[in-house]
Amino acid sequence: MSAVEYHGDHRARLMRFGLWLRDHRGAVMALQWGVVVVYAVLLIGPAILPLPPAGAHVWDNLTLLAQFLFWGVWWPGVLLSMLVFGRLWCGLFCPEGALSEFAARHGRGRATPRWIRWKGWPFTAFVLTTVYGQMISVYQYPLAVLLILGGSTLAAMAVGWMYGRNKRVWCRYLCPVNGVFGLLAKLAPVHYGVDRTQWSAPQQRPQAMQPFTCAPLVAVKTMQGTSACHMCGRCAGYRDAVELKSRRPDHEVVNLAAETASIWDSLLIITGLMGVAIGAFQWSASPWFVGAKQALATWLVQHDVYWPLEQSLPWYLLTNYPARNDVLTLLDGAVLMLYITVAAVVISAAVGLPLALAVRISGTWNWRRFHHVSHGLIPLAAVGVILGLSSMTVTQLRADGFALEWIGAVRFWALAAAVAASGYLLVRILARQAHGVRLALASGAAACAFGAPLCAWWLLFWHW
Ligand code: SF4
Repeated sequence: MSAVEYHGDHRARLMRFGLWLRDHRGAVMALQWGVVVVYAVLLIGPAILPLPPAGAHVWDNLTLLAQFLFWGVWWPGVLLSMLVFGRLWCGLFCPEGALSEFAARHGRGRATPRWIRWKGWPFTAFVLTTVYGQMISVYQYPLAVLLILGGSTLAAMAVGWMYGRNKRVWCRYLCPVNGVFGLLAKLAPVHYGVDRTQWSAPQQRPQAMQPFTCAPLVAVKTMQGTSACHMCGRCAGYRDAVELKSRRPDHEVVNLAAETASIWDSLLIITGLMGVAIGAFQWSASPWFVGAKQALATWLVQHDVYWPLEQSLPWYLLTNYPARNDVLTLLDGAVLMLYITVAAVVISAAVGLPLALAVRISGTWNWRRFHHVSHGLIPLAAVGVILGLSSMTVTQLRADGFALEWIGAVRFWALAAAVAASGYLLVRILARQAHGVRLALASGAAACAFGAPLCAWWLLFWHW
């Protein structure tokens, strides 16, 4: 088969897959309800069972199995899928999205209020959920999982019930991982491309004029990027202008983001995915956390203040499982939040300043360019979060007797690949403004932004 034939065939296959999704809504909905059932079992089952006894394993205890599946397979897998297929997960598999849309089909269908459409939600919701998850030990305890994931699902259904007929208002604006998914999907090598000339052309084929509903409220006619599209295929073939097709994975980040990048993107990439997430993954293994706690405890005792060292809170505010000898005091909780805050501030500064310098070296300063350049760090931020999430599972599997001696090499090469991808993107973005020596200097400055996150991962995976 010649290269031309191969590409023609590849293109036709992708296009047919998009049309197949459009024409088989029943199969897609059956799949979604199947995932809802699995999700409900994994969420509710462990919460009504006693905590795993000592010596229980992933293969003989539903709670440990659910932890393994949620944090070791489900979430890392979903994040990886964003890089490969865009938000296909959201459109085809996500139980929360399916339930929210189901509620919206039968709900009040009110107009979406302005507070919901606030552009800061993706960053704010991600940070709040991450910090709260650490406070109640969401990786360890089924009740905490039920509260956070189940609470999110109930909120998704309530928002669906109230706002937007047949729409996914929750997914578009409020889902805590909407912003993260949107960023990662920018690197996907497939998307629904829209031919605007064809869209506006006089139509002849009535089959191409079937109305459709875009659940996540994308303005399909003007759609260019993949951040908001759930890849559901419902618009495929509309006016013979919409088609599932391949594209260069760097196209959106290098070109489209130049027009759309905002402060909320930079905050989510640098402060959220690098700063807050690293602090959240790190604190429980950090000797600095222990040192800070001991120093504060000593100071409190010297001043005859004992209640922060003794007082605990209910489990839904701060980890409290006395039977497991796992109780966080007010002091623990305060130092935990302090640790994550300091990590977020230090990493934000250590990443943001070199990027700002790179922007300045490569041309005139402007904030939009800074926000655009920060998009170059998406691969490193994404791989860090995937490795951080899977580290819980690595610990769990090691406790179950699996040596996993290869994990260090996998982590090393994953981070190396992420640095290479981020370096490539940063150079491509900076090359829009600078060339020659100026580009080399700007790229060198931008590369310094890798230092803090790499150092943080080295501490967690290899040093501590
Ligand atoms: S633009 Fe909307 S309808 Fe089209 S594939 Fe994306 S989510 Fe589905």
